[in-house]
Amino acid sequence: MIDSHCHLDLPAFDDDLDDVLQRAKEAGVSGFLIAGTTPAGWQKQLDIQANHTNIHLAFGIHPWFIRSALDDALSDLQQMVATHRDRVCAIGEIGLDATIELPLAEQETWLLAQIEVAKQSKLPVILHHLKTHHRLPALIKQSGFTYGGVVHAFSGNAQVAKQYIDLGFKLGVGGTVTYPRGQKTLNAVVEVGLDNILLETDSPDMPVYGYQGQRNEPARLVNVVGILAEAFCTSPEIISARTNTHFRQLFIQP
Ligand SMILES: [Zn+2]
Repeated sequence: MIDSHCHLDLPAFDDDLDDVLQRAKEAGVSGFLIAGTTPAGWQKQLDIQANHTNIHLAFGIHPWFIRSALDDALSDLQQMVATHRDRVCAIGEIGLDATIELPLAEQETWLLAQIEVAKQSKLPVILHHLKTHHRLPALIKQSGFTYGGVVHAFSGNAQVAKQYIDLGFKLGVGGTVTYPRGQKTLNAVVEVGLDNILLETDSPDMPVYGYQGQRNEPARLVNVVGILAEAFCTSPEIISARTNTHFRQLFIQP
């Protein structure tokens, strides 16, 4: 299993990251992609990668932090990616969130600018979405971006899912499908098939069912895989192997 989306650089893991990674390893999680959120976090991500194995990195400015990002954050991003090109495998997480105050028009400007960085560096992107499926696929198409990526924490129906898949994207599947209310998303995931999904936790956020209110951690990927194995009428080993292959194809050996 590979956790294709987690935030191990956040303060929630400052005190016990070694234990968290050990528990994940014991649970069978063999890789971690830490998605970037702020310029301040990128250096911390590099430090974690330098001190642990199987850590992959994405740099980006998350829509929640655009307000606090400095004006030169974009040129910083360009420079960070160029300097550490061999240590970074994606741009993200970037995207659109209709539940925050920042106007979508402003978020779109930042999204398109970061997609440009991904284009220049020939890297896939990690997309954040919240009530913005009406804009995201159209913007990606409009940008002419062709390096694909993953729609992090996908939720939606199969029709929406296929719009992203047609643009070369995988669906990031995590805690959502472990809840009874995640049934629609689980159905969509089954309909588009195992070759179009990646596993993720979004740790420390998005706890799986049964652990509401607690810090999430990569070891809980087991719960997501269990639900998927049942839904796809297959074994956890098959879910793990196929999603590992697609993770590698997208981020490691494109
Ligand atoms: Zn995230």
